[in-house]
Amino acid sequence: MSLMTAMAFAATGPPLLTYHLPPDKYRQAVEFGRRIDLLHFAGVAWDAAVLLLMIRLRIGARARDFAARAARRWTVQGLIAIGILLAITGVADLPLAVYRHHLGLRFGLSIESWPAWIVDWIKAGITGLIPATLLVLLFFAFARKAPRRWYLYAWALSVIAIVAGTFLTPLVIDPLFYRFRPLAQTDPKLVPALEQVVARAGMYVPPDRMFEMDASSKTREVNAYMTGLGSSKRIVIWDTTIAALTIPEIQSVFGHELGHYVLHHIPISIGLTAAGLLIAFWLLDWILGWIVRYRGARWDIRGLADFAILPAALLLALMAGFLSEPIVNSYSRWQERQADIYELEVLHGIIPDEGRNSAKVDQIMGEIDLDDPAPNAFVRFWLYDHPATPGRMLFAQRYDPWSEGKSPKYVK
Ligand SMILES: [Zn+2]
Repeated sequence: MSLMTAMAFAATGPPLLTYHLPPDKYRQAVEFGRRIDLLHFAGVAWDAAVLLLMIRLRIGARARDFAARAARRWTVQGLIAIGILLAITGVADLPLAVYRHHLGLRFGLSIESWPAWIVDWIKAGITGLIPATLLVLLFFAFARKAPRRWYLYAWALSVIAIVAGTFLTPLVIDPLFYRFRPLAQTDPKLVPALEQVVARAGMYVPPDRMFEMDASSKTREVNAYMTGLGSSKRIVIWDTTIAALTIPEIQSVFGHELGHYVLHHIPISIGLTAAGLLIAFWLLDWILGWIVRYRGARWDIRGLADFAILPAALLLALMAGFLSEPIVNSYSRWQERQADIYELEVLHGIIPDEGRNSAKVDQIMGEIDLDDPAPNAFVRFWLYDHPATPGRMLFAQRYDPWSEGKSPKYVK
């Protein structure tokens, strides 16, 4: 190093880390990214085509008539008709799920065998189908008893279901697929390092809210997440992440999840979802009313409370979900950026150069998870729920309110 470069180096620090992959990994990551993105858009089109076909073939009316022959009570008829219709859409989704798992295996991310995967697919289907059938049955009950205001009751019930579902998922659903153990049990040496971060935040997070998940039983991917609500609220770190990272790097991952925890991202997201759903249900009522009036005879739909309307309602819900993706994901990216800021601030003073440490974690995780090094701008806007890895790494290294004389945002 010449004297001039040495002086420049001392003034500016080492050059910024940028996301880079060896040539074969680069090609794989780009190809995997393209296929997964395409699968998403093609999947929505496929699901829409299935529902359109169900409407054209009057599958809704057939399920209703079948249920009417099979049972006398309205409730039982509803369970049969709704169960059949939801199960058809679930099974129609199977080719997409198979292709997704095929990609995971082909690109070396998943290590789950096909038989184990099928068992998981069935488990997920059943645990989704049962509550969904009951929920939709109640929507129909509202439409029957209160045809003018059914959508308000349906909305309120949906919000309750989301809150209950968020609370119950880590307790009831997640353990069906993975094993969760308190970090204090699996990695006792990590606990003081994580407690150091929690103490710097001026917080108290009980050690029994920190879990390790045995992701390595099914995947090579690395990740961590925060989940639950109230007494089920917790931070979960995949065992693959713990195996791939050093203690300061795990502190960095943990700092990000702690950001979600401290900044109440889950309750805020539920609140925003509730607001969005109110608009969606109001629109649904309006458009379904139109369908009954102008397409009812053609599609054999006799009213809002007729089970035969379900495929049309599902198609509208699919479209609403698809069109809201860029809004939901833009908001999610903002929330992720706030968690990143929290991480950089909470680890400032614990780790000498947290910006660089954080960027290193993004590099390691990106390389293992095959993060697309050059994602398409439209895909990034529409689908990315996290900031893309290249920009995220640069942000971490440039975020420096301390030397700029500014006050940190969350952790003073
Ligand atoms: Zn996050």
